[in-house]
Amino acid sequence: MSVSYRNGLRAALLYLLLSMAWLQLSGYLLSSFFDGSIDRALWQQTSCYAWAVVSAVLIFFARARLLRVLGADRWLRHQQKDRERLRQAAAVFDCTREGVLVSDTQGQIVHVNRAFMEITGYQREEVLGRQPSMFKSGHHSVDFYQAMFGALRQSGEWSGEIWNRRKSGEIYPQWQTIRAIRDEQGELTHYVAVFSDISAIKDSEHELAHLAHHDPLTDLPNRLLLTDRAEQALASAQIHKRGCAMLMIDLDHFKMVNDSLGHNVGDQLLKAFAQRLRDMFGPGVTLARLGGDEFAVLAESCPQLVQAAALAQRILDGLKEPFQLDGHQVLINASIGISLFPSDARSASQLLRNADAALFKAKSAGRNGYALYTEELTAHAQQRVETAFELRRALDRQELRVYYQPVHDLATSRLVGVEALVRWQHPHRGLVPPAEFIPIAERTGMIAEIDAWVMGEACRQMCQWQAEGVVLSFIAVNVSTRLFARSELYQQVAQVLHDTGLDPAYLELEVTESALMDDPEVALEQMHRLRELGIRLAIDDFGTGYSSLLRLKRLPVQKLKIDQGFVAGLPWDEDDAAISRVIVALAQSMGMQVHAEGIEQMEQARFLLDQGCDLGQGYWFGRPMPASLLDWDNAPQIL
Ligand code: C2E
Ligand code: MG
Ligand code: MG
Repeated sequence: MSVSYRNGLRAALLYLLLSMAWLQLSGYLLSSFFDGSIDRALWQQTSCYAWAVVSAVLIFFARARLLRVLGADRWLRHQQKDRERLRQAAAVFDCTREGVLVSDTQGQIVHVNRAFMEITGYQREEVLGRQPSMFKSGHHSVDFYQAMFGALRQSGEWSGEIWNRRKSGEIYPQWQTIRAIRDEQGELTHYVAVFSDISAIKDSEHELAHLAHHDPLTDLPNRLLLTDRAEQALASAQIHKRGCAMLMIDLDHFKMVNDSLGHNVGDQLLKAFAQRLRDMFGPGVTLARLGGDEFAVLAESCPQLVQAAALAQRILDGLKEPFQLDGHQVLINASIGISLFPSDARSASQLLRNADAALFKAKSAGRNGYALYTEELTAHAQQRVETAFELRRALDRQELRVYYQPVHDLATSRLVGVEALVRWQHPHRGLVPPAEFIPIAERTGMIAEIDAWVMGEACRQMCQWQAEGVVLSFIAVNVSTRLFARSELYQQVAQVLHDTGLDPAYLELEVTESALMDDPEVALEQMHRLRELGIRLAIDDFGTGYSSLLRLKRLPVQKLKIDQGFVAGLPWDEDDAAISRVIVALAQSMGMQVHAEGIEQMEQARFLLDQGCDLGQGYWFGRPMPASLLDWDNAPQIL
C-alpha cells in the first residue's frame, strides 16, 4: 500500500474513532434528555453513526488524493528512507572498531564514536568542541602536518601512519584516513577522520624483525645483523679515519660438553657465555652468535692490533672462571681469530672471512689462544684453491699412488699386514704427503673418489699378493671422517669387494675416533652394516678424540690403534707410558686387538710388547713404500 493511502487511512481511522467516542457519549446524554421517547433518540444516534462513517471514508480519499496530488507521497517515502539510512549509519558509526572523529571547518570536534573513546581513553564530553591537535604526540615534524593538510586541500583525502597520544600519555601508532566532506553546493562542511590502532601490528612487525636478526638462544645479533653493523661501522670508520676489529671466537671442544652433559647443559653454556661477553663489553662493541659455538665481537673503534689483541686476551681471561650450570662446573676455553680494518680488509665480508681464516690458524696452533690475520693466510687460501684445481686433474691423469706400510706382530716380529696410504706424485712438487691434500679433498668432496680408488687399488694388490703366495692377515684402508657417516660407504665397499673378488675377512677399515664420536648413533649403525659384509673395523688415532667408554663398548670394532703421539715419548715419558698402558688394558678388557703406530725405536716396541700390545707399525719396522719394495723376508727383531 502506498504511503499516501496509508496516511489517508490513518487519518480516517483516527476521525472514526473520535467520532464514535463522541457519539457514544452524546447517545447517553440524548437518551436521558429525550426522556420517554427512546426511539427518536436511537434513530438520531444511528444516523449520526452513519454520517461519521461516510465522513471517514471521505476523509480517507481526500487525504490520500491530496497527498498524491502534492507529491508528498514521494517526499514522505524519501524521508522514511533517509531515516532508515541514518539509523544504519548511526549503528555502523557506533559499532565499528575504527575510531571516528568528525570536526567542523574550524577544526572543532563535533562528533566521536564509541571506538574513538576506547582507543584514545577520552570520553565524548572531554573532546567535543576541542581541536584534534590535542592528540599530537610530538613524534612528527611540522612538514609532516603540512603535507597532510596539503593533500586534504588538493584531493580532499589523506591516509597514512600517524603517531598520536592517548589520554594516559602513551604514544601509539594509528592508520588514519581523513576525508573532507562538502555539501551539495560544494562547500566544505566537515572533516571525518577514521583510524585504527596498529600498535599490535607494529609489535609483531618488530618481533619478526628481531627474530630475523637475532639468535633465538642467546638473543645476540646473528650473522645477518653483524654483517650489517660491520658495514655501517666500516663506513663510519672510513669517514672518521678510525680502525675496526673483528674477533671471531670458537669454544674449544664444545661438542664434548654436549656429548657428556647433554644438549640442555650445552645450550645453557652458550647462553652463559653470551652473558659473560655482554658483561665484558659496553657500547661501541657488537656481539653476535654466528651459529653453533661460534661467536663474534666487532669493536667499532680499535685503532691498532695491540688493542685488538688486548680484547682477545680479555675474552680468554674471562673464561678462566668456570660456569655453574645445572649443578655442573664447566670450564671451557676458546680460540679467537682477529682481523682488522683497514689494514687486513676493506669490506665487511672480507673482514669476516679474514677473521675466520685467523680463527682456523688459532685452532691449528693448539687452541685456547688467539691468532691474527696475516697476508700469509691469504697466500695459504690461494694455494688451497690451486691444489683443489690440480687435484681434480690428478685423478684423471693418474698421479695418485698407493704406498704400503708394514705392520708387524710384536711377539713374533712377523709381518702380518699392511696399511695402504695414499700419495700424490705431483709433476712439479714431487711426492706430496696426504696431510697436504686430504683436507682439501674433504672440503671439495673429492675424497669419496680418492678413498674409493685407494680401496680398489689396495684390494687388487692384496689379491695379487695372495695369488703370489704372500701370507698376510689384513690390508688396512683409511676412511675419511667425511665419508664415514654417509650411506654410500657401504655400497662403495661392497662394490669394491665384488669387483676385486677379495675375501672380506682380509679387508680392514680404519676410522678415526672423531668420526665415530661426531654422530655416535649413525656411526654405530654404519659399523654394524659394514660388519655384515664380513670386513674388520679399527679405530685409528685412538686417544686423540673424546670417546665415551660406554659408547666404545657398544661398537663392533676389532682393533684400537694407539696414536703415534703417545708412542713418541715411550718408554721414558711417564704420561705417554701410562696412557699406552691404559689403552692396552682397555682394548684387552673389551676383547679388541691393540696396534701401536709411529714406532721409531726398538725401545718403544719393547715397552709396548711388555705391556701386551699385539701389533706395531712405524719407521723402525719400515716406512710406507710402493708394493714392489716391501721386504717380506727380513723383519727387525725386538731384543
Ligand atoms: P694414519 O692413518 O694415522 O697413518 C699413519 C701415518 O703415520 C702415515 O702418515 C705414516 O706415514 C705415518 N707414520 C708411520 N710410521 C711413522 C713413524 O714411525 N713416525 C712418524 N713420524 N710417522 C709415521 P701419512 O702417510 O702421511 O698419512 C697421514 C694421514 O693421512 C693418515 O694417518 C691418514 O689419516 C691419512 N691418509 C693417508 N692415506 C689416506 C687415504 O687413502 N684416505 C684417507 N681418507 N686418509 C688417508
Ligand atoms: Mg690409518
Ligand atoms: Mg693413525
